[in-house]
Amino acid sequence: MPASREDEIARALRDAIEALEPITRGQKVAFERRLRGGIAQCASYEDEMAIASAMSVIPIERLKLEGHTASMTIAGDEGADVESVESAESRMERLSARDAELLALLRWFKEEFFSWVDKPPCEHCGGSEMTSIGVEVNALTAEEREGEAGRVELYRCGACVKTTRFPRYNSAIKLLETRRGRCGEWANAFTLCARAMGFRARWCLDWTDHVWTEVYSESQRRWLHCDPCENVCDKPLLYECGWGKKLSYVIAFSIEGVFDVTRRYTQNMRERYRLRGEVYEPWLRKRLAELTSELRSAMLPSEIKELEVQDAVERAELDRPAVDVGESLPGRQTGSLAWRRARGELGPSS
Ligand SMILES: [Zn+2]
Repeated sequence: MPASREDEIARALRDAIEALEPITRGQKVAFERRLRGGIAQCASYEDEMAIASAMSVIPIERLKLEGHTASMTIAGDEGADVESVESAESRMERLSARDAELLALLRWFKEEFFSWVDKPPCEHCGGSEMTSIGVEVNALTAEEREGEAGRVELYRCGACVKTTRFPRYNSAIKLLETRRGRCGEWANAFTLCARAMGFRARWCLDWTDHVWTEVYSESQRRWLHCDPCENVCDKPLLYECGWGKKLSYVIAFSIEGVFDVTRRYTQNMRERYRLRGEVYEPWLRKRLAELTSELRSAMLPSEIKELEVQDAVERAELDRPAVDVGESLPGRQTGSLAWRRARGELGPSS
């Protein structure tokens, strides 16, 4: 074949490939950075000091007792005496004590521990008429740097006109001290608390700007969706059906692996694929498998085998078509009405 003809074919091929290629190298690098960031985030929850700090603030014994009591109560029949003869059916309706502890942890976290911040109150006079005046990313204080704040929101008080800084901390240890923030801070601190209670936990990143936790239920042998901001457990269709979100990628990170769990959160995966243009799907599958084996490289073969059995069970679960939830899911409950509306998260009826 003459050289010019070869060149022509090569050019035609390149054009065809580039026409197919929705992905720039920059997008792939950005995606990889988010994957690495998620892995680092989960590694931080294994830090002994972080675990010890969490254990010092969680009322562990009280939550265990609360869980134990709840597990002895049959759903829908709170006065039932479970010591009496119990049918197999009612036993099924009982929570395992461990699952009930998880629910107690979620309840405590939302009702007693963490608080939501739209705009912080004035740190000088306690005023609440705060106006956003910008974001600081460079001139951070020593405390802000130590708490791994990526940026600091600045607000001016309508009463005393002084400025209040609201650092968006990324250090989970720091968040145990400040006990406030938006969904990022909530999921970050909650995932650490779940680890401190001895649960296997995943930090789940939704590419459309939300983040939550998944906790493994040993009794149900599956991962449970947990949203600490909403005190919601095991309602994975909340975002799509309740908030009206158009999800694309939902990636779950833990020290045991990195998984694409988007299917758990949608009834229409085909539509999700349409919204996923950042990287090629085969690349994503390969990359997640590589990162997972990297994370498992120091484990015993028997541990790896057990995890692989669980992976297969989860894959089968995610491959089943999502069932209709049979209940209407609420729109988002946390954050100001305006903020939720701005994010289009009030649900289809609003
Ligand atoms: Zn003030």
